[in-house]
Amino acid sequence: MDKHEKNKRLFKILGFVFLGVGLILSIIGIASFFESFFYSDWPEFFWCCFIGFPMMGVGGMLLSIGFHREIARYMAKEHAPVINEAAKDISPAVKTVASAVKDGLSNENKRVCSCGAENDSDSVFCKSCGKRLVSTCSACGAVVPSDAEYCPKCGSKI
Ligand SMILES: [Zn+2]
Ligand SMILES: [Zn+2]
Repeated sequence: MDKHEKNKRLFKILGFVFLGVGLILSIIGIASFFESFFYSDWPEFFWCCFIGFPMMGVGGMLLSIGFHREIARYMAKEHAPVINEAAKDISPAVKTVASAVKDGLSNENKRVCSCGAENDSDSVFCKSCGKRLVSTCSACGAVVPSDAEYCPKCGSKI
């Protein structure tokens, strides 16, 4: 057992002792306080509360230090599945959003044929019906979508 573990064991033992003694003193103090009502004089052992309460506090603190690793391990064990479950819930939503964004971005570059088929932005012919998707501008020779009314390059009417 190394020094660190030894200290922790000391904290645990002291914590229990403080908590126990503090509890007993507090009970004596409170009992004496209520007892004094019957005899209507100053509670003889009421001072025990003033020692008992802080002792319980110190005991609790020592125990929390002594059991720090156990508490941390317990917390980690309890929290890990929660995080995993949350990730399980979140990841499909993230995927949906991501694919929606991707579709939204790629849709702009797609060449939709009059038959309804979506073709790649550089497609010349429709992959579904074989129709020509682009025309050539008679003024500048640029390749323009077949449904364009004006050439995006030179502005001539097609
Ligand atoms: Zn088509
Ligand atoms: Zn043109």
